[in-house]
Amino acid sequence: MNMLQMPADLDISDQHLVDGVVGRQLRPLAKTITLIESQRPDHRARARRVLEALLPHTGGAMRVGISGVPGVGKSTFIEALGLLLIERGLKVAVLAVDPSSSVTGGSILGDKTRMELLSQRTEAFIRPSPSAGSLGGVAGKTRETLLVCEAAGFDVVIVETVGVGQSETAVAGMTDIFCLLQLPNAGDDLQAIKKGIMELADLIVINKADIDPRQAAVAKSQIKTALGMLRHSSPNWVPPVLTLSALKKDGVAQFWDEITRYRDTMRGSGEFDEKRRTQAQAWMWELIDSGLRQRFREHPQVRAELAALQAAVARGETTPAAAAHSLLNHLSEH
Ligand code: GDP
Repeated sequence: MNMLQMPADLDISDQHLVDGVVGRQLRPLAKTITLIESQRPDHRARARRVLEALLPHTGGAMRVGISGVPGVGKSTFIEALGLLLIERGLKVAVLAVDPSSSVTGGSILGDKTRMELLSQRTEAFIRPSPSAGSLGGVAGKTRETLLVCEAAGFDVVIVETVGVGQSETAVAGMTDIFCLLQLPNAGDDLQAIKKGIMELADLIVINKADIDPRQAAVAKSQIKTALGMLRHSSPNWVPPVLTLSALKKDGVAQFWDEITRYRDTMRGSGEFDEKRRTQAQAWMWELIDSGLRQRFREHPQVRAELAALQAAVARGETTPAAAAHSLLNHLSEH
């Protein structure tokens, strides 16, 4: 008996994937994610169909973004949080957006020994960052993987990223709550403000408070002051600042209390669903933008003329506006 509403062109093997994911089986889940991460155009098409079929089963998880510089304690913290949530009967997926993996070929977040205890639990699913492509490509694949994890019944999906570059914006754009992990020293939070990261944060955690609790308390009040100068996107939420020790598992339960308080507040005001709607539309536009750019670059006339026009612009023989206009015109010719 099949209750799913399937697009007509879903073939038998894709149907198996969909049924397996919805049936909460691990192998079909992993296979679907592999399909999503593939660059092959035929795989992309299949992935789109599978995702479309899974869509009615998505939306049920709490999507938590976690960011911080390398060494701040992200994996220690996520492991402690994951184990706590499992203790409470929840299933947890951990995904990563690691822009370093596509730039250098090495990965900051990909180390296999990370979260060793959590990775042994059947209630947990840990997937390293997709490694190929631009940040936009990597983030897009993680976004799709998040939906698959939801369809597979995970109650909490944690998306982790490193505090470098633009990846925080991408992760904040795919999660319900974005949490920033900080070290208990003053220079660190100024960096975050400068980069505009603090504005994205719905919750700030000062980790490693066990090392010097007094300094952590000072950092907390400094960050609170700094936050007072920023405006949060919701009028109903003042981002809390928590001090915590991931290593000693001290404060992890309070962290989760704050997450549930945020969810309840946002649900109460209608902002929870509104944020997801806005995120979905922004994602669509991102895909349209990148799709247009790709089609433009692949257009035969554009390919024929691009190099010469670029050179002409560089030499000052034509204006950037005139060159862009003439190239873009090719898109409307057939
Ligand atoms: P990540 O790079 O952000 O994932 O950081 P890790 O979780 O790998 O932690 C980096 C180092 O900091 C490790 O040696 C951890 O044991 C240590 N660490 C993490 N959290 C804490 C904490 O709360 N207190 C102390 N003292 N050390 C911690």
